[in-house]
Amino acid sequence: MSHPCLSCGACCASFRVDCSVHESDEHGGRVPAGLLEEVNAHVCRMRGTDWARPRCAALVGEVGKQARCGIYEWRPSPCREFEAASDACNRVRQRHGLAPLDGLIF
Ligand code: SF4
Ligand code: SF4
Repeated sequence: MSHPCLSCGACCASFRVDCSVHESDEHGGRVPAGLLEEVNAHVCRMRGTDWARPRCAALVGEVGKQARCGIYEWRPSPCREFEAASDACNRVRQRHGLAPLDGLIF
């Protein structure tokens, strides 16, 4: 069975994703700077995540069908910390018309 995130992507099309400027590859981090916009001297934001209908610029594919992070190895810390099958995960899945995940499947 493939990982449920690969047919989801709901979190990448729901939240504003902010991180430290130090996560940008322009400042010694790993997140491609071209996918970030500067919020202030300390904070960067993944492009597209503050739209009225958010969609991270790094998201590839169609939410709820086939979706993946195009910079998975270099994604910022909020994305690394977000847990599949958590309450927040299941809330945004439902918002995108997807069934909640049972944590026991992992
Ligand atoms: S909302 Fe949950 S299941 Fe969907 S991609 Fe994000 S972590 Fe994975
Ligand atoms: S960087 Fe990747 S994991 Fe993070 S919101 Fe964007 S597409 Fe999703």
